[in-house]
Amino acid sequence: MQLLNGKAIADEIRREITENAAKLKAEHGIIPCLAALLVGNDPASQIYIKNKEKACAQVGINSRILRLPDATTTGELLQHIAQFNADPSVHGILVQLPLPKSCDEKQILDAIDPKKDVDAFHPHNVGLLSQGRPGFLPCTPHGIQQLLVRSGIQIAGQHVVVVGRSDIVGKPTALMMVQKSAGADATITVVHSRTKNLADLTRQADILIVAMGRAKFITASMVKPGAVIVDVGINRLADGTLCGDVDFDAVKEIAGAISPVPGGVGPLTIAMLLRNTLAAALLTAASPP
Ligand code: NDP
Repeated sequence: MQLLNGKAIADEIRREITENAAKLKAEHGIIPCLAALLVGNDPASQIYIKNKEKACAQVGINSRILRLPDATTTGELLQHIAQFNADPSVHGILVQLPLPKSCDEKQILDAIDPKKDVDAFHPHNVGLLSQGRPGFLPCTPHGIQQLLVRSGIQIAGQHVVVVGRSDIVGKPTALMMVQKSAGADATITVVHSRTKNLADLTRQADILIVAMGRAKFITASMVKPGAVIVDVGINRLADGTLCGDVDFDAVKEIAGAISPVPGGVGPLTIAMLLRNTLAAALLTAASPP
């Protein structure tokens, strides 16, 4: 069994970003900058934003975190986004999700300039991805692809089953894997909560990508022997420990390769956000504002 070591691969990608960010600074005097909006006091979101801030600093990317109260209105958020859109020293913009229920999430995400949309949630970038001519790639699906490619897993021609159809993970992962391109060319099945005979389908997967948010849902009997398993889920158990959507201890006994939680897809998601921010800054170098 091969362990898909997301942490080691993320470290490798961060080293590449550090080198390229230093080069951009030396050659063009540009320091990539990520602006992030955090609304409210959700403890998990606070941790995610702190981790992103720290990760930026480690690779030579500036970050500007705007922490706003829970009562912030959609109109106020749109104004902040407009300011970041217009600011040439800001290259990437992200809005930490989830937003408070009172905010119009779609309207807010749609307001981000697609050229600064480093989370790649804007319909413009989603449309480009679906047509196989991507601008920014969404961070978690791109991280999954890099995890597979850099671990030497063959994707072309394989049957990839994606469990989950969210706009953040499941759907864009399926879109990426079906493209006629390197690191893709797979045959895709997407399953979700309305799927009949889910286990019959997961058992057909050469590569099983699981993004459900259901602790240890995928058991050994739902997996084909020798299959490659990518576990995207992050669930906190009653004892405070983290686990994925896959029953790791049982499934690792029959899988050909498997990603752990933590230390699998998570570190790659942040690495790909840094990579998008660098790419956004490179765009500025190529065509200054
Ligand atoms: P969502 O809740 O948006 O989507 C979950 C998907 O799983 C839905 O499509 C849902 O189906 C499906 N699902 C839920 N229960 C079942 C079931 N019993 N049988 C079949 N399908 C089911 O979650 P996300 O996609 O945002 O996230 C999924 C997991 O990945 C979470 O644990 C999240 O924390 C984690 N995550 C990890 C990241 C990382 O960097 N490692 C990044 C982003 C997310 P339906 O559509 O029918 O409701």
